[in-house]
Amino acid sequence: MSKLLGRTEETDIGGVTWLRERPRRLRRTAALRELVTETRLDARQFIYPMFVVPGAGQCQEIEALPGQSRWSPDLLVQEAERAWHDGVRAVLLFGIPEHKDPEGREAANPKGPAQQGVRALKQALPELVVITDVCLCGYTTHGHCGVIGEGGEILNDPTLELLAKAALSHAEAGADLVAPSDMMDGRVAAIRQTLDRAGFSNTGIMGYTAKYASAFYGPFREAAESAPQFGDRRSYQMAPPNRREALREARLDAEEGADIIMVKPALPYLDVISDVRAALDRPVAAYNVSGEYAMVKAAVARGWLEERAVVLEVLTSISRAGADLILTYHAREAARWLRGE
Ligand SMILES: [Zn+2]
Repeated sequence: MSKLLGRTEETDIGGVTWLRERPRRLRRTAALRELVTETRLDARQFIYPMFVVPGAGQCQEIEALPGQSRWSPDLLVQEAERAWHDGVRAVLLFGIPEHKDPEGREAANPKGPAQQGVRALKQALPELVVITDVCLCGYTTHGHCGVIGEGGEILNDPTLELLAKAALSHAEAGADLVAPSDMMDGRVAAIRQTLDRAGFSNTGIMGYTAKYASAFYGPFREAAESAPQFGDRRSYQMAPPNRREALREARLDAEEGADIIMVKPALPYLDVISDVRAALDRPVAAYNVSGEYAMVKAAVARGWLEERAVVLEVLTSISRAGADLILTYHAREAARWLRGE
């Protein structure tokens, strides 16, 4: 009789090694493996982030996000129709305005690109879930997510009213959910109150709840022309080493009325996704951000990674960590692959 390290008892019966546990039994055939699969990706859990510019007939390719473009509302609709055909049922819109000012007032313009994009999508695809990013950084000359005080600090409370106005303009355009990404304290409560008072109690809020001051946002800033012109965002976004703090943010967003809690980025923060999933009863979303997407695309372009397998493994890992919803630029291609195309 001998012992096998780290395994159950091993006995020698008539010269045959006997193992009580043989996990490989359930890996023997494809059908068996499918039968015991713990995490299944589904295109219906994807949210496809899209960029909207003013005008018509515009499709501007984004160099740092291969395969992604900025669309004018008319072509945005066509791209959303293609996504719908692929099996994607939700989009997240980022408006890129013509004019910027220090307070980002264009963010609440009912005729802004985001608002027009929402209207166009809802008209063409009424069942598509349309979510809008709510922030000021794409609309401010300085590229920060809030208004700037005299000393150069990002002011919290004066920003809330501007965010709430922007969110209201999205709700009026027909957005199903608004998604504040600014990381100001109290923004979810401010937006909830403003929406309810205006009669939009059915418009939901997806909070960018645990949004880290990450280096993985680089390609997005090119796409949305939203890079900060001075300093960085560390006085409002979360510090990458902090894990417990995400639970504090999640509890606050839930208390303030967030319907969906988001962790951003996804891959470098799988532990945070898992924590938030375990601690809260709200749906958890995770944002597979531009830098995560660009890394895969760059390696694939060099022939270093096999695209389909890597993308599906990445998305599966985010789902396995606990994300119910996944925001990803891979949404369309992943949806097609999941259908076996
Ligand atoms: Zn922002």
